[in-house]
Amino acid sequence: MKPQADLRSGFVASASPSTVVFGTGAARDVGNWLDRLDRKRVMLVCTPGQAQRTAAFSAAFPGHLAGVHAAAVMHTPVGATTKAVAVAEKLEADCLVSLGGGSAIGLGKAVAWKTGLPHLAVPTTYSGSEVTPILGQTDASRKITMRDPAILPAVVIYDPELSAGLPVATSIASGLNAMAHALEALYAADRTPITSMLATEGLKAFGWALPEIVRKPSDPEARRVALYGAWLCGWVLGMTRMSLHHKICHALGGSLDTPHAETHAIMLPHTIGFNHACAADTLEPASVLFGADLGGGLWDFASALGSPLSLRELGVARADLTRAVDAAMVDPYANPRPFDRAAIATLLDNAWVGKRTSHQAFRED
Ligand code: NAD
Repeated sequence: MKPQADLRSGFVASASPSTVVFGTGAARDVGNWLDRLDRKRVMLVCTPGQAQRTAAFSAAFPGHLAGVHAAAVMHTPVGATTKAVAVAEKLEADCLVSLGGGSAIGLGKAVAWKTGLPHLAVPTTYSGSEVTPILGQTDASRKITMRDPAILPAVVIYDPELSAGLPVATSIASGLNAMAHALEALYAADRTPITSMLATEGLKAFGWALPEIVRKPSDPEARRVALYGAWLCGWVLGMTRMSLHHKICHALGGSLDTPHAETHAIMLPHTIGFNHACAADTLEPASVLFGADLGGGLWDFASALGSPLSLRELGVARADLTRAVDAAMVDPYANPRPFDRAAIATLLDNAWVGKRTSHQAFRED
C-alpha cells in the first residue's frame, strides 16, 4: 500500500532535543534524573491548587528540594515571572522542576529562560506545553508568544498516575486544547510528513481516550493514552506554526482573560470548520476520525463529552467580543483560508452562542 505522505511540496524537519520519559510511576524517578543533570537545589513550581501534592511528589528527590513556589497562574503574566525569578535567586536554586499543567510549566519555562537554569517538567494535564520551545506571556492585556530553543524543558517526565485524579472537565478541556495543536499542525505551512503522522496519532489518542475518561475517570489505560496524546499533540505544536484558531484563542485570553483550555475547546469546531473549506485535503485524517463535516463533527464530539460549547458559558459579554476581534486582527498568523474582520466577528459570535455550524455554511461561493 502506498504511504499517505504528501511529498510534492518538500519540507524541512528537525527533531526536538529534549528527553521524554513516559511510564506509570515514572515520577518516582525524578531524583535519578536530577542526579544525571548534576542538580542539587530544586525550586519546585506549581499552581496554588497543586501545593498540597508537592510533599508527596518531592519525596522522590530527598535532599534536593530548596523550596516550593506555588504561585503559577494562567497565561504566564510577566509580573509573576519576575517574582519567581527573585525567589529562585533567594533559594539559590540550580534547577527548576514544574509540576502541573501549562500554567506551572509556563512559569518554569519563563524562569528557566530568564535565568538559564535547567528545567525538568512533570505534566499533569494534557495541554502539551512541556514539549514546546514556545512561551506565551501576558503583559498589559496582550498575550505575546515567543519561540526559543532555550525555552524547551531539558527533561519531561510523563507519569499517567499523576493525571489519574485530574477532574473530568479539566481533562476534557485540556485534551481538546491539545487536539487544537494537532488539527492546526495538519494544515500548517511548515508541516512535514512526520508532523502529520504524529498529529493524526495524537487525534486518534484523544478520540479514544476522552470518551473513556468520561465513562471511567480513573481508568489507567485511558489516562495513559490521553497522556500519550498530549505528548504527540504538544510535539507537533512545537514543530509547526499555528494559524487562525490559536490566534483567536490568544486574542480572547489576552483581551478578555478567558480560561485557556476551555477557550480552545469552545472555538475548535468553529475555527476548524471555517478552515476546512480551504484545507479539506490536509485535514482528511481528522475527517476520517471526526466526520466529513469536520466542524460539525468536532462540535458533536465536544457536546457528547459534556464540554462547554459557548463563550457565553465562560461569562464573556457579547458586547466585549469586538475587543477580541480587534486583538485577533493585530499581527495575524498565516492561515489556509483568507479572512477579514467580518469573518472573525461571525466566528466569535457563533462561538458565543454555542451554535453547531456546518462547514458548508462557510464555504466560499
Ligand atoms: P492549568 O495548568 O492552568 O491547570 C488547570 C487547573 O488544573 C489548575 O487549577 C491546576 O492547579 C489544576 N490541575 C493541574 N493538574 C491537576 C491534577 N492532576 N489534578 C487536579 N488538578 C490539577 O491548565 P492547562 O490548560 O494545562 O494550561 C494552561 C496554560 O498553559 C495557559 O497559560 C496556556 O497559555 C499554556 N499553554 C502553553 C503552551 C505552550 O506551548 N507554550 C501549550 C499549551 C498551553
